[in-house]
Amino acid sequence: MFLPQEIIRKKRDGEELGREEIAFFVRGITEGYVSEGQIAAFAMAVYFRGMTMEERIALTEAMRDSGEVLEWKSLNLPGPVVDKHSTGGVGDVVSLMLGPMAAACGCFVPMISGRGLGHTGGTLDKFDAIPGYDTAPDNALFRKVVKEVGVAIIGQTGNLAPADKRFYAIRDVTATVESIPLITASVLSKKLAAGLDALSMDVKVGSGAFMPTYEKSVELAESIFEVANGAGCKTTVLLTNMNQPLASSAGNAVEVREAVRYLNGECRNPRLHEVTMALTAQMLVLGGVTAGEEEAYERLRKALDSGRAAEIFGRMVAALGGPADFMERYDDYLEKAPIVRPILAEREGFVESMDTRAIGLAVVALGGGRKKPTDAIDYAVGFTDFAALGDEVRADTPLAVAHVRTEEQFEEASRRLKEAIVVGSRRPDEEPMIYKKISAKG
Ligand code: URA
Repeated sequence: MFLPQEIIRKKRDGEELGREEIAFFVRGITEGYVSEGQIAAFAMAVYFRGMTMEERIALTEAMRDSGEVLEWKSLNLPGPVVDKHSTGGVGDVVSLMLGPMAAACGCFVPMISGRGLGHTGGTLDKFDAIPGYDTAPDNALFRKVVKEVGVAIIGQTGNLAPADKRFYAIRDVTATVESIPLITASVLSKKLAAGLDALSMDVKVGSGAFMPTYEKSVELAESIFEVANGAGCKTTVLLTNMNQPLASSAGNAVEVREAVRYLNGECRNPRLHEVTMALTAQMLVLGGVTAGEEEAYERLRKALDSGRAAEIFGRMVAALGGPADFMERYDDYLEKAPIVRPILAEREGFVESMDTRAIGLAVVALGGGRKKPTDAIDYAVGFTDFAALGDEVRADTPLAVAHVRTEEQFEEASRRLKEAIVVGSRRPDEEPMIYKKISAKG
């Protein structure tokens, strides 16, 4: 029997906690025998004192086990159960293509996705833009779609890692979100509760990333790598560029459109393609579907070229209640904004830098994201046809095309975007899309 205040005191004084102490504290979060004040004090103690990798693994496992942990063994699936997670970005539509692409190559992908948070978009909100698509199916349907189609992308189900829900809500109001051990445990407890064999992680770097500096992103990536593998889930982490929106669009319906066009082969933004292929290839390699990366890329190219990945996306949409002919008639089904108008650069030069976070916030301001959790979303609004970093522009070149409902919205979107996208006289150096890979093979 432990005392919560003794555990807090130990951490406050910089001592290392044992697995049992951590498990006891986390059980108290779910069962209610630790108070809100104690959870806040614990979070602040961890914020200042940090945690060893052993402590982080114990915290992650205790939070994973605080609710249901999905099991897939009994389905006898003829392939590995794998998923991807990203720390969040703008125009990060990767999941929509990656899930069907991995499934086309023999993986099974039970993807439990989240809503937009702050300036970042959420995969769940994008699927809610598809009429009829049920992002909250019962467990039986979720399992059936994973088994029969190979991928199901849905929202958080009832009871996965409930300790994180209470813990995160308290961190959010006590200035303790920005702790790498706590972020690691929060992110991984939810993913590991999905019962995965392997995980491909995308930690974003840059002006639209959750972490404020490259060094902090690397620190988070290394923590996630150690803890996920330490908790028994084979994981590779890629550090990827978020110094501009990843796709050519940002919003909900507009990003679904871009994902369908990518899968259909109508158009593929090269930055988005590079990151999607790299993250999906990790899933194939980690899951043992291919011997190495080269073979994984080859299989993925075939899955795209043959139309198989597109077909799987269409089957997933139909199986979860969306239109059966979505892949052919997506443009009719997805909501459109009444005003679609370019925002012009109004000067000559090069796209020098972008405040990607501000671009994400411009989508939120249009109603494409939430200012508070209960807000409704406007699926039609957003931006398409973003100029890219390094592009040479003239006064009449669009920086992006705005999809808005009113003239006032257009004015505001235009003002925000011109502030966020800097046109200067210097062509910036080209940046890599993938900065670093952290994997067991190095
Ligand atoms: N997202 C999460 O799910 N948890 C965190 O702690 C931070 C971001």
